[in-house]
Amino acid sequence: MLNKNDERWLNRFARRKPTTAELILGIEKGDIVLVSQAITLVESQLEAHQVQAREIINYCLAQPRRALRIGITGTPGVGKSTFIEAFGQVILAAGHKIAILAIDPSSQLTRGSILGDKTRMNQLAADKRVFIRPSPTGSSLGGVARTSRETIAVCEAAGFGVVLVETVGVGQSETVVRSMVDFFLLLLLPNAGDELQGIKRGIMEMADLIFINKAEGEAAAKAKIAKSQCNNALHLFPPKTSGWTAKAMTGSALLPLGIGEVWQTILEFYDLVKANNFLQKLQAEQNLFWFERAVEDELLRLFSSQTAVNTALAQARAAVEEGKISPFTAAADLVKLFLSQMKS
Ligand code: GDP
Repeated sequence: MLNKNDERWLNRFARRKPTTAELILGIEKGDIVLVSQAITLVESQLEAHQVQAREIINYCLAQPRRALRIGITGTPGVGKSTFIEAFGQVILAAGHKIAILAIDPSSQLTRGSILGDKTRMNQLAADKRVFIRPSPTGSSLGGVARTSRETIAVCEAAGFGVVLVETVGVGQSETVVRSMVDFFLLLLLPNAGDELQGIKRGIMEMADLIFINKAEGEAAAKAKIAKSQCNNALHLFPPKTSGWTAKAMTGSALLPLGIGEVWQTILEFYDLVKANNFLQKLQAEQNLFWFERAVEDELLRLFSSQTAVNTALAQARAAVEEGKISPFTAAADLVKLFLSQMKS
């Protein structure tokens, strides 16, 4: 039995914020509570948190990149969370721990997370080998992208063999997810064939695999037609630099049906891209992409941290809008002002 003193001591200990070293040790051990706390720091906008987060990220990024990173997209209602629930069981059976992250630009408007909601993935949420993190709210897509990428690095260092990144197929978020995963899976409905024109060409082109979901019962025949239409459409795209040939398959997340085949296809993809060195090239390209984003972000942050520049920026915006000054002259003037402020 604990006496009152012990309890007080324990409570004090529980409330104490873990140090960077404790967090890193926790990540190394795959301790979910500490992994979660490290990710909260990564997501925080507070300067003090960011300093600590940067040290943690530096450690995580220095670890070898070994997780399979899979992006999953599709319109709301297509069955993403049902699919992940079934797919997760297949991945767990293959002996991997899974991290499920979400990038949901709409949650910035609603301030609530539609994706990565634990209640939609009951079985996985209750499994100790699974870590589910909903989309962070309240920052721009660029901000979410940065924190998501760093969150992946933390999960990877914590020993999660598979990282699933879920997003809604509505716009720019797929491009962001594409730039942080190896494999991209697009979920479509059995009537996809009728709507092939409406599906953004860019999203189709990014996909390594199209899974036509809800292909049971009467919908099975329709899904089969959609599959061949999707395969025809995929053939029209230029060959992928990965050497991988994208394809469509049908199945049902609910039954489940065809989920094991998706996992097999992904393993085939990894065999190919490891053998032809594409994976290494892709990861190098992605690192470069994120480096460039980081430089832009940092410059923008510095730029807008100057009050005088901020005031001038608002004035320049109005002047450009009214056609009183050329956008290029206004930009050059602002940069001059910024540089002079930095010197003083
Ligand atoms: P999300 O919005 O893309 O995450 O979609 P959900 O996974 O929440 O699924 C939306 C609805 O479709 C739910 O009512 C699911 O039960 C249902 N659903 C998902 N997969 C299937 C499937 O393979 N077959 C059928 N018939 N329904 C499904």
